Amino acid sequence: MIQKLQDIKYLQGVGPTRASLLDKELGIKTVGDLLTYYPYKYVDKTRIYRINEIDASMPYVQIMGKILSSDMVGEGRARRLVARFSDGTGVIDLVWFQGIKYALKNYDFTIPYIVFGKPTMFGGRLNIAHPEIEKVDPSQPFDGEGRSRFVPSYNTTEKMKRSGLNSGAMMKLTSRLFELVDAPFPETLTPYLVEHYHLLSYDEAIRNIHFPQSAELLRRAQVRLKFEELFYVQLNILRYARDRMRHYRGIVFPRIGDAFNDFYHHHLPFELTGAQKRVLKEIRKDMGSGKQMNRLLQGDVGSGKTLVALMSALMAVDNGCQTCIMAPTEILAEQHLQTLRAFLGDMPIRVELLTGSVKGKKRATILNDLKTGDIHILVGTHAVIEDNVVFSRLGLAVIDEQHRFGVAQRAKMWQKNAVPPHVLVMTATPIPRTLAMTLYGDLDVSIIDELPPGRKPIYTVHMFDSYRDRIYQKVQMEMDLGRQIYIVYPLIQESEKMDLKNLEEGYEQICRRFPNCQVGKVHGKMKPADKDAEMQRFARGETRILVATTVIEVGVNVPNASVMVIENAERFGLSQLHQLRGRVGRGADQSYCILVTDYEISTETRKRIQIMVDSNDGFEIAEADLRLRGPGDLEGTQQSGMAFDLKIANLASDGQILNLAREAAAFVLDGDPDERNPQNDVLWIRLRELRRSNINWGAIS
Ligand code: ADP
Ligand code: MG
Repeated sequence: MIQKLQDIKYLQGVGPTRASLLDKELGIKTVGDLLTYYPYKYVDKTRIYRINEIDASMPYVQIMGKILSSDMVGEGRARRLVARFSDGTGVIDLVWFQGIKYALKNYDFTIPYIVFGKPTMFGGRLNIAHPEIEKVDPSQPFDGEGRSRFVPSYNTTEKMKRSGLNSGAMMKLTSRLFELVDAPFPETLTPYLVEHYHLLSYDEAIRNIHFPQSAELLRRAQVRLKFEELFYVQLNILRYARDRMRHYRGIVFPRIGDAFNDFYHHHLPFELTGAQKRVLKEIRKDMGSGKQMNRLLQGDVGSGKTLVALMSALMAVDNGCQTCIMAPTEILAEQHLQTLRAFLGDMPIRVELLTGSVKGKKRATILNDLKTGDIHILVGTHAVIEDNVVFSRLGLAVIDEQHRFGVAQRAKMWQKNAVPPHVLVMTATPIPRTLAMTLYGDLDVSIIDELPPGRKPIYTVHMFDSYRDRIYQKVQMEMDLGRQIYIVYPLIQESEKMDLKNLEEGYEQICRRFPNCQVGKVHGKMKPADKDAEMQRFARGETRILVATTVIEVGVNVPNASVMVIENAERFGLSQLHQLRGRVGRGADQSYCILVTDYEISTETRKRIQIMVDSNDGFEIAEADLRLRGPGDLEGTQQSGMAFDLKIANLASDGQILNLAREAAAFVLDGDPDERNPQNDVLWIRLRELRRSNINWGAIS
């Protein structure tokens, strides 16, 4: 029997040239890889159309009838054979530019045929070029000869097509592979799972996913393979999380002490929201439990996560431990520093900042005081995970805006203490549940689903470029009320120069339009110190309008800003737009977000913009984004380093299967924590195999 790991080049019909193409273009190296290169669609050959039903907009169709007559027409390269084909309801032309001799020799007028192909309109007549033609066997149903009735289509690249490796060739190779396999494919899940979830066997599934015997079997094959794929992702994550729990006992924070109580009773400037209270309870329970906390805190922009982080840090202080808060940018880190210091007031808690720009003596002092334990809370950028940053006793690591960091950085935090610190990961980019379960499946999740009281929903409008005057009138009106304005331009890496030009032009236009007003400008190419200085000027209200790129996307807090104008809004992702919009609406006043686009935009773009206009709910928007763009494009999934190489499951539409897969993985681990049940051996073997073959998977262990 043919081996899964056998080099693809030895499969008949491949050879070294095609093998190298398959590898380069699709990553197919072995026959096993070919087996899991699934069709992206199927053409239904179960239905025979009447010719009078057909129009040129239809995809592939199948008709049955007889050839009435045939002629050679045209000259030179346009010379072709045209056969008129009818089923009694109408006539369609079958056309050959090539293989004319073969057609003339093999098809005759007396017998009925089944014809299959893509109808097009040419010279006012319906025709099918180079149709597939089969005799009708009167003793068999029309799909006879054991051929699958659903014809698979495989994605191939231009390069492959040029070498004859089109979808049809891929189908032939796959079908040859099946011919070579004489025994059923071994099962890749344990029998009790297959039975409990009423799944097809692996053998049936893999055969039907390529050559479905019926619509029902195709559906069940898809379910089985999606389930399996998601099951192994979940098994990997959950096994890893449990393993960690067994090996690492967390630091126990048994008490709530002076720091927390003093802050809560004397310094907290407002009542905590119900959601903040609930989340703090969850965190306290984790940190007092004796296991290491690994918690994801999700909360929409402006929901008050910073305060939760601070109060968690105070629990650490009360238990003789330090806290490290890591933010993705210098601006954010600095802002956290100021926020925390302002909240703490005169409390004897020392908060310091460590970023790439903190140098020389100041840096040396901070590094030293961290080691001695004189610093209670360290705020910083990824500079804080460098090896020379050593804590006296790090008890809590907070990672803000996790989607900006990879899993590797999270893991590095662990190594900062002999007993790994508790970890709180915060994100304002709401992640749809299916994605969270896959991306952060090893984390417990807390959600702040409530904004502080008194916030008015941001009023969002979509305006065309050509209404610039009205946009600027609104800007002027708000400035007359004493408010501040953000104007954001997109920045796309490939054409950074172009975009900076947009920004510069926009900046000049604004300066001309508002001559009596101080306008600031920030973008990613500026030196961090200059950028910071510019941000600070805006935060202090010295500049009234800030023209910026997305560097202001996360976290910046200027409550007096009430208008967010986003230029070329069509070039942003929805979650990104939501983040940007979250920069306003932070005070008690009504705020506005103006999404500016060209007049001519696609229906798709119009839909996306409309979602923003209709909703202020980050979760709703994230779900819509996932539906519209698919998980691969969502921010954070690229660098997250978790298994995203899903071949068949789709996180946007397979939520239900994902739930079952997770339940099944938990069931297996609960029933067999020491992995002793021989029935489960197949699972661990398969998991190892998958981890070897999928680079992404390695990242989390
Ligand atoms: P995010 O969750 O986006 O990080 P922040 O922590 O920056 O949100 O909080 C947004 C604003 O809301 C801050 O100005 C903060 O001081 C304020 N805030 C936080 N919690 C409350 C509360 N319970 N009541 C009123 N205002 C609050
Ligand atoms: Mg924040």
